[in-house]
Amino acid sequence: MYEFNYHRPTSVEEVKQLMGANDEAKILAGGMTLLPTMKMRLAQPSDLIDLGGIDALAGISDDGDAVSIGAMVCHADVAASDVVVAGIPALADLAGMIGDAQVRNRGTLGGAVANSDPASDYPAAVLGLNATIVTDQRQIAADDYFTGMFETALGENEILQSISFPKPARAAYAKFPNPASRYAVVGVLVADTGNGVRVAVTGAGACAFRATEMENALNENFSSSALDGLTIDATELNSDMHASAEYRAHLVMVMAKRAVAAAGG
Ligand SMILES: Cc1cc2nc3c(=O)[nH]c(=O)nc-3n(C[C@H](O)[C@H](O)[C@H](O)COP(=O)(O)OP(=O)(O)OC[C@H]3O[C@@H](n4cnc5c(N)ncnc54)[C@H](O)[C@@H]3O)c2cc1C
Repeated sequence: MYEFNYHRPTSVEEVKQLMGANDEAKILAGGMTLLPTMKMRLAQPSDLIDLGGIDALAGISDDGDAVSIGAMVCHADVAASDVVVAGIPALADLAGMIGDAQVRNRGTLGGAVANSDPASDYPAAVLGLNATIVTDQRQIAADDYFTGMFETALGENEILQSISFPKPARAAYAKFPNPASRYAVVGVLVADTGNGVRVAVTGAGACAFRATEMENALNENFSSSALDGLTIDATELNSDMHASAEYRAHLVMVMAKRAVAAAGG
């Protein structure tokens, strides 16, 4: 039933070889999504390739204008990192809001961003902070990365290695969490990048998206009052047992104002 070969390579090169040799292989990060998916019989990989033994995918570094975080860094380590807290406190806050202690200690940045669950938190940070996704093959700009529900620009066997987050002048994340899982019913990250304001929304649509009308208003006046009178079109938003599209549209505005206020606007 759970028949698969388990591999624990020590280099990205080895992962590529294993992926190339096994059509039905799957990468395993913390297993927070992949293992439940297998338990529900929604995935039956022939091989699980565990990234946990690859040093090159671990660690957080201060690169001057940016913070680089390895794909296998768990959410708890992002939340507690001195480098992240000093350089991008909004990102540390966001990581600390994910799930519960168990999820934060197993779930990884790479797994979350490769999976692109519409309700996950990190996509708002990747898009809002204008991050760069570094894979074994190329660098992908945040604006080109999220392509649909559980869909990204990653190719079939492409390995997400790290993400580089530019340090903003100021930023904050506000979310309305599902009370059980803590996934975002709606989450909004607002960043004054020093080169324009970015507003990224997660939880509300098929994947994270930017709210350009809000960005324009905040570029004029970085204050929550600048958002008064703006609305979000609910037509394309998610509607499910947790919230209707109209309620999500309302929450986007509320979370955006909270984020702007928390960022000092
Ligand atoms: C109870 C619960 C509550 C949660 N609450 C939240 C929440 O509040 N907010 C939130 O954002 N998330 C939440 N999550 C999601 C969680 O934080 C994990 O980030 C997410 O499940 C991915 O898990 P993982 O990192 O263990 O990856 P895995 O489950 O191991 O992998 C997920 C997918 O990504 C692929 N993958 C993994 N790493 C890479 C890589 N480096 N390159 C390419 N592909 C890769 C795998 O093949 C797989 O398809 C929750 C999860 C659970 C179980």
